[in-house]
Amino acid sequence: MAATTASEVRAQRAEIRSTALALLRECGISEPPVPTDTLLAACKLDTETFSYSDRMPPLRPGQRESAKMAARRELLAHMDIDVKVRGILDTQDHVVYTHNTLSPDQRRFCTFHELGHFALPWHRELFYQCSELDMSPETLATLEQDANWFAIECAFLGDRFEREVADYRIGISTIRKLTKIYKTSFEATARHFVESQTAPVALLVAAPRPDLGSSIDAGQPLLAVRYAVASPAMRRLSGGYIPTGTLIPWRHPATELYLSRSNRQISAPDILTFASHSSQLACETELYYNGYNVFILAWPSRRWLREC
Ligand SMILES: [Zn+2]
Repeated sequence: MAATTASEVRAQRAEIRSTALALLRECGISEPPVPTDTLLAACKLDTETFSYSDRMPPLRPGQRESAKMAARRELLAHMDIDVKVRGILDTQDHVVYTHNTLSPDQRRFCTFHELGHFALPWHRELFYQCSELDMSPETLATLEQDANWFAIECAFLGDRFEREVADYRIGISTIRKLTKIYKTSFEATARHFVESQTAPVALLVAAPRPDLGSSIDAGQPLLAVRYAVASPAMRRLSGGYIPTGTLIPWRHPATELYLSRSNRQISAPDILTFASHSSQLACETELYYNGYNVFILAWPSRRWLREC
């Protein structure tokens, strides 16, 4: 059930929302934060944590093992350090497994995601009929997107969040306040905050450049954009997008914030450049570092809007 056109995507998103809201209604939930336990119980699902290293017997002090076993142990340890698959839905035993290194917020989102695979009818058909190994990468990517949408609908209670953010000022402190109300990660909340805005606003999520070695020359860009999202009004205003991999200049306040490892938030004027036609927009920005990424929340400056 892959949606391809814009209207098909909207219809699919609406169906995912109605499935999530039906589950919330069945559980009598209308206020945040949404308790995962109640949803799991309604679906008759248990929950457990896992790690990839659990698959190996514990290594006793002084114990020797074959090179093959040692290599496998090392591979699984790497999978635990760089966790790609955070959750697993076991449709036979009715268990949602989440990786044991996840933070509470990440575990909640991952649980909502796995509930999506369970609750969306076309997912259940596929998961009960065949293993993930039988599915094409395109099918898997669509299913993952669906489950992420389902998780967003559950965590933010459909359009309740959208109605609520209309009353708040745009800013990092608002997003931090909403994370406490909805018990969601800063990243998921910031992203949904921007996508729910009727005003023009964008979010750039920046992290150290993946192509950097262990050292860089002073003055070289340290950070690059992992991804950027924009509200529909911002997309119309800019007429473009900010590509993944866009370098953040060394002198940008995001670099200092990242290097200071501080979770204070700072404000600064900035000029955003949008691909593919290099249009520029003078913005007000607020920056925040959450220990993983630097978030740059941007909206057009008043001066720029007055001159238009
Ligand atoms: Zn999934």
